Amino acid sequence: MITKGDTHTHNIAIDGPAGAGKSTIAKKIAARLEFIYVDTGAMYRAMALYFLKKQIEPSDQAKIEAACKEVEITIAYKDGEQIVILNGENVNGFLRTEEVGNMASATSVYPFVRLKLVELQQELAKKENVVMDGRDIGTCVLPNADLKIFLTASTQERAERRWKELKAKGIEADLNEIEKDIKERDHRDTTRTFAPLKQAEDAIYLDSSDLTIDEVVDKIMEYYNKIKNKKVGKA
Ligand code: C5P
Repeated sequence: MITKGDTHTHNIAIDGPAGAGKSTIAKKIAARLEFIYVDTGAMYRAMALYFLKKQIEPSDQAKIEAACKEVEITIAYKDGEQIVILNGENVNGFLRTEEVGNMASATSVYPFVRLKLVELQQELAKKENVVMDGRDIGTCVLPNADLKIFLTASTQERAERRWKELKAKGIEADLNEIEKDIKERDHRDTTRTFAPLKQAEDAIYLDSSDLTIDEVVDKIMEYYNKIKNKKVGKA
């Protein structure tokens, strides 16, 4: 586990449920601060893609555990974009489907899946200043993050955002189905035994239902600058 004593990097943890706008917001904050953006969901998705390719059922714990040992995931950056490399192949183009998302949600409950990725995430944060988004960043991956945000929005709002996102890509989807999927995913993420989605005690709760993206970014920047100024003031 990383403690503030053994790293000089700065990090911001953004956790929250699916569709709360974490990645959009985290990317913008990272760009403003010139930090690296780390999308941990993409890592769980890359693992899920591998399980899907191998046609493993999400309930088949033994096969998933064995498959984990065959997976090597690394992260690279190209033009500021995070690229996930799965066993030597750039898989970014295959990660953002509902099928992969649902498989990621179902298989991220297993401790052996999580431990492998948490280690990689902690290594990244040790080397670079990061804005990292996910479900367990403030509670588990970076317990000593400089700033922790718990970003959420109503289920309805999150479903609508996802629906619009898909529509913009030319994908027709059923809003009710998306809302149902989101609820299922929330339930799985919040009730799993190992590293469930929950707000860290020292995280700031932010409901983005009635805020624009820029308003959320500005608020987080305000919180971060306050923390930074306090530290400088104390020194
Ligand atoms: O954020 P995204 O939708 O890409 O994440 C896909 C799935 O990966 C989530 O539904 C969640 O179950 C899992 N995940 C996780 N812990 C993280 C990031 C994602 O369990 N830190």
